[in-house]
Amino acid sequence: MTGILTNKVGMITGAGSGIGRATAKIFAAEGARVVVSDVDEAGGHETVSLIKAAGGDAVFVRCDVSKSAEVEALIKACVNHYGRLDCAFNNAGISGRMANTVMCTEENFDRNIAVNLKGVWLCMKAEIQQFLDQDSPGAIVSTASIAGLVAAAMAPAYGAAKHGVNGLTKSAAIEFAKKKIRVNSVCPGLIETPMVARAGSDSKLIASMVAAEPIGRMGQPHEIGHAVAWLCSDQASFVTGHCMPVDGGYVAQ
Ligand code: NAP
Repeated sequence: MTGILTNKVGMITGAGSGIGRATAKIFAAEGARVVVSDVDEAGGHETVSLIKAAGGDAVFVRCDVSKSAEVEALIKACVNHYGRLDCAFNNAGISGRMANTVMCTEENFDRNIAVNLKGVWLCMKAEIQQFLDQDSPGAIVSTASIAGLVAAAMAPAYGAAKHGVNGLTKSAAIEFAKKKIRVNSVCPGLIETPMVARAGSDSKLIASMVAAEPIGRMGQPHEIGHAVAWLCSDQASFVTGHCMPVDGGYVAQ
């Protein structure tokens, strides 16, 4: 690690597990003070313990990203604890249930949109307002997916939400570029996390998804985390409105 986030305060949602936890550990190793957030309190506290055990600085704040009052309280907690906010990773998400467009239930659709799309918008809204209040530059990265770039058969609501995340990213990037607020997304391919373990208890499904990855394997959470840390760092100072595939070549096919 080279300290690319030294002196920054970073906030990560969905940081009690998978991609969010790995990224929180990388943020801390790169020098950031980290606000770890999740609905899963045990997972969130465990992430904080892992960071502290490695010599980093982190605090847990519980937040359901689909609820505006909780998101506003989360950003206030960042400022109360560390005095400011410099970068944010809007990563919390759910897979929802697999079903085609006809079989997808209204409840499945609404929940996907509430967490995966509205949750990202609520976070962006509060984070950008905080950057403006601080009158400082800021960087936001949100987790979309390859399902936000290409078709996601059997996951219409998830695909719609993730395409929406990329739309929000581009809108906010253009709106606030002159304020030196950068807004990007990462679009992970298949990453080995608890979400995938739950969705793919059928090993044939995982095998077929791995077979579709040109690189020939699943990605690891830290491979997303390093991309996010770079996008949040000053090294990416001319990068905004970018939806970056981190996918072993999946969308290049
Ligand atoms: P994960 O291990 O399940 O982690 C997601 C975390 O978000 C969990 O701790 C989960 O808590 C939390 N969460 C769920 N709903 C929330 C809410 N309303 N508010 C706050 N936190 C909430 O999954 P992951 O694979 O790391 O996924 C992270 C992100 O990457 C998601 O946005 C996902 O869509 C995206 N993604 C993943 C892959 C992949 O292959 N893994 C590929 C592309 C994109 P609970 O466990 O209690 O629900």
